[in-house]
Amino acid sequence: MKRSGVFYHKVCGEKAYFSLAMSVREGFDILQQENLLTEPNILLFESEPVTEELILKVHARTMLESVKRSGYYETALYSTGSVVQATEKVLTKEIDNALAFVGVGGHHAGRTDYWGGCFLNPMAIAIENARQRFGTRRFAIVDTDTHHGDGTREIFREDEDVLHICFCEREHSDSETKVCLSQASNDEDSISKLVREVPLRISDFKPELIYWLCGLDTHKDSYGTRRLTESCYPKLGAIIKDMADNSCDGKLIVKIGCNAPAHVSEYVAPRILSLLGELNRYQGD
Ligand SMILES: [Zn+2]
Ligand SMILES: [Zn+2]
Repeated sequence: MKRSGVFYHKVCGEKAYFSLAMSVREGFDILQQENLLTEPNILLFESEPVTEELILKVHARTMLESVKRSGYYETALYSTGSVVQATEKVLTKEIDNALAFVGVGGHHAGRTDYWGGCFLNPMAIAIENARQRFGTRRFAIVDTDTHHGDGTREIFREDEDVLHICFCEREHSDSETKVCLSQASNDEDSISKLVREVPLRISDFKPELIYWLCGLDTHKDSYGTRRLTESCYPKLGAIIKDMADNSCDGKLIVKIGCNAPAHVSEYVAPRILSLLGELNRYQGD
C-alpha cells in the first residue's frame, strides 16, 4: 500500500469559486463518511496559505494586487498551498502520492493575467518552489479538464523541463513538450485516447513527478460539452497512476476542484483516493 496525503482547507469548501462551489465540500466530506481518512496509510493535512514571496516568483505584482481585490484571494492562497505542500511532501517522501483539493481553478492563470475562475497557478508555483527547495527539475502535467490550460501553457512555454499534455478543443503542439489533444466526448474514447497518447510520452520524457488536473467539467451533468460518466474518472486515474508507478516511483499529485454536481464528486473523490492508497475498495463497481 502507498501512503497518500489528502490536502484540504475549509476555506476551499466554504469560499469556492461558483463553478467549483458545486461540490468541493461534498467531495471532501464523503472521504470522512466513507471512513477513508482513518485508514492508517491515508494522511490528512490542512492546507496552509502560500506566501506572497513565492507567488511573486511566478506572477507579476500587478496581477497579485488584482487577485487580492477579486474576492477569491484567500481561497486562491489555500488552494495553491494544497498543491505546494503536497508536492513538498511527495518529494521528501513523507508520502507517496496525494489528492489535493482546491476551491478555485488554476490553469487559466498566466504570469500576468487570469480568468475563468483561476486566480493563481498552483502547479506553476509548486514547481517553482520544488525547484528552489529540492532541485527537482522535470515535471509532467496531464490536464484532462475540458478547457485549454492556457495559463499553464504560457508560463511553461519556453520550459523544456515541463511536459504539458492538455486535453482540450483541437490537436496541436507548441513544441515536443507542449501538446494539446482533442477531448473525447464519451468514456470509452476518452480512456482509449489517454492510453494511446499519454503513457509513451511520459516514459520518453522521464518526469520526476506527475500532476494530474482531474477536471470534472467533462462530466455529462457539468457545464462542459462532453458526455463522460462518473465511472470514467477512476479508470483514467488508474492509467495515470500506472504511468507514475512506472516512470517516477509513483510520485503523483491529483488536483481536484470538484467542478461538477455533488453526486459526481462524491463518486469520484473516494475512488481516486482508494486508488492512490491502494486500498482496493470499490472493486465491484
Ligand atoms: Zn474547465
Ligand atoms: Zn490545450
